[in-house]
Amino acid sequence: MSLYISSLNSGSNGNCYYIGNANEAILVDAGISCRETESRMLRLGLEITKVKAIFISHEHSDHIKGVETLSKKYRIPIYITKKTHVSGNLKLEPELVIRFTSNKKIKIGELTIIPFSKMHDAADPYSFTVNGNGVNIGVFTDIGTVCNKLVKHFKTCHAAFLEANYCEEMLENGGYPYYLKQRIRGEHGHLSNHQALELFRNHRSESLSLVLLSHLSKNNNSPAVVSKLFKEHATSTKIVIASRDKETEVFEVNAGDNTGIGVIASRDKESEVFEINAGDKTSKGVNSIRQKSTKEKAGQLSLF
Ligand SMILES: [Zn+2]
Ligand SMILES: [Zn+2]
Repeated sequence: MSLYISSLNSGSNGNCYYIGNANEAILVDAGISCRETESRMLRLGLEITKVKAIFISHEHSDHIKGVETLSKKYRIPIYITKKTHVSGNLKLEPELVIRFTSNKKIKIGELTIIPFSKMHDAADPYSFTVNGNGVNIGVFTDIGTVCNKLVKHFKTCHAAFLEANYCEEMLENGGYPYYLKQRIRGEHGHLSNHQALELFRNHRSESLSLVLLSHLSKNNNSPAVVSKLFKEHATSTKIVIASRDKETEVFEVNAGDNTGIGVIASRDKESEVFEINAGDKTSKGVNSIRQKSTKEKAGQLSLF
């Protein structure tokens, strides 16, 4: 049993993360236009009618840009705190607005969402973990400080969207004014590559099979640099960059077998589907990569 996840876009120009099972899904944030959300989901074979809720992490425009139109057009309920709603000045239909509070579980069909507060320069910002079919997915972006709550939730994840916003050296040596540099690296700013890496190295579980490095800065980071940094420590965990410009593949995340180590399959319309068996009792390395046949690919398509 598994969950399907994809980043439709990630970065200061827009964030939208898809997490679903075979029947229903949620979006965390709706920071690209409704039209872009539609066309990216279509390309991935994801059905927007399966999206039963949109959870809003905070009111910055890169997280809310598309929410009014998406909600209105598809009658999708929006889970948003009052402070975020007011600060974002969002015009949402009252019957489609649902409040949530920290640590209170929310059921969306067979998915369970746990919001928990995070440190970021917004009115009332939240991270989320989503559980379904025994799989835990974390959405951890726009975070200034790795707090105990984040560590606790990160430890449970089979896959995570994890912010790696900036390279310390690039930010320091770059052209941003001093106040902005301080804001980005402050305790209510964003996670640096090394902060994210420390969390990953010290607190990942053996079941963490996939990390999508997210919310990369255009000016203060490099996908190649952060990718290399993580891959040096990744062992059996697959590392993917969530792009600022396009959707990722859809990844199938499994809870793993009785060794507790996860299995991933990924696909999009052009790339091959790989199943990566992360290891067995004797070895924790990647020990088999099998390209699925066209027939198997067609079988997977029907799941979306
Ligand atoms: Zn953001
Ligand atoms: Zn933000």
